[in-house]
Amino acid sequence: MNKIGFISLGCSKNLVDTEIMIGLCKEKGYTIVNDPEEAEAIIINTCGFIDDAKEEAISTILDAAKLKEDGKLKKLIVTGCLAQRYKEAVLEELPEVDLIVGVDEFPRIAELLAHETGACVTTNTAPYPEDAPRTLSTPSFMAYLKIAEGCDNHCTYCAIPSIRGPFRSRRMEDVIKEAKGLYESGVRELSVIAQDTTRYGVDLYGQSALPKLLKALAEIGFPWIRLFYTYADSITDELLEVMASHKNILPYLDIPIQHIDNTVLRRMGRKDTAEGIKNLISKIRTKLPEAVLRTSIIVGFPGETEDAFSSLCEFVKTGAFDRMGVFKFSPEDGTPAAKLPDQIDEDTKMERHEKLYTIAKSVSEEALRKKIGTEQEVLCEGFSDMFYVGRTKGDGAEIDGKVYFASEEDIAPGSFVKVRILATEEYDIIGEVTK
Ligand code: SF4
Repeated sequence: MNKIGFISLGCSKNLVDTEIMIGLCKEKGYTIVNDPEEAEAIIINTCGFIDDAKEEAISTILDAAKLKEDGKLKKLIVTGCLAQRYKEAVLEELPEVDLIVGVDEFPRIAELLAHETGACVTTNTAPYPEDAPRTLSTPSFMAYLKIAEGCDNHCTYCAIPSIRGPFRSRRMEDVIKEAKGLYESGVRELSVIAQDTTRYGVDLYGQSALPKLLKALAEIGFPWIRLFYTYADSITDELLEVMASHKNILPYLDIPIQHIDNTVLRRMGRKDTAEGIKNLISKIRTKLPEAVLRTSIIVGFPGETEDAFSSLCEFVKTGAFDRMGVFKFSPEDGTPAAKLPDQIDEDTKMERHEKLYTIAKSVSEEALRKKIGTEQEVLCEGFSDMFYVGRTKGDGAEIDGKVYFASEEDIAPGSFVKVRILATEEYDIIGEVTK
């Protein structure tokens, strides 16, 4: 068994684990194949923190299992959050799966896939595998940099702390060493990730070391550094100052607020308040006038009254955020929120999701239309059909819009160009390269 196929589901943090597993398997002499039909073993790195993600993981496993029918596929391996959270259920209900590997065991994947079957799922407290080789699966000019694992915030609706364990930062020198390697390998856009990036260093250095880390990353030379997964009440003046004083730290912030009603925020176990969030937004808008702000919002949380939902809709209409992900509350077993009284019925959740999604979409479209006529720096990702495709400083990979632009000259993927915005289409931009 030499040919290994990988399928990576879920978030960018999971993708980094997949890239490490690919690096480890290659180091052991395995051949990585892109076409699952060619694979003798398939490793599915799953997500498992909400229903939709669990369903996607199970259907992906069942699809891969079909490849066993003609005997080509010898081994089907499941890793990641679904494996960690539901090892017994996966073993019992998915007999097609040969091996289940937990979040602390994935660095042993090369040895486990050769010899083991059953479940290798233990704790969720291991440090980041600093010495493990990593093979990027993203285009060579961009990469994710995971600076910590786990989470200590314990929002009442979230299963991640029980899956990924306590918050544990990587040592700053290890993070910087990896970043320098990524830069030397040609990465030009570095996306900084963790469950909560603003908490970086609190466990190691007694206070957030994110501003200091970002400064050090900015000095390496990346043209673009993008910060994801910040926690509103942990965004400090020092962090905003570092962002404002380094041109290559993008004026882009992903700040999941989840809601704006204080009663709901308290029931979610969030440390934020409506006043705190609104003050923070106006401080950011002053300190970083070009900033593009993204957030995530949950509707239908237990006890969410019509008034609470209306205040959320009114808040979103203010345009405080430019980009929003809107999610229906999913009662996750083992979380406090799943046991809360006043659960909202599915129809009401759907209605509220539909309504807020529509409001959020029109707010985002309006924010984008305001950029028509301006000139934006664009990272070219490649060419598709008749246009070059890229992203502005305000577009995170995979989650935000694209720029489709024309150019007389050839433009290499990974290069930066100036684009005049001519039009917008939903979340996307149409433009042309300027001289
Ligand atoms: S901050 Fe809250 S929602 Fe995010 S991973 Fe931690 S517990 Fe979950």
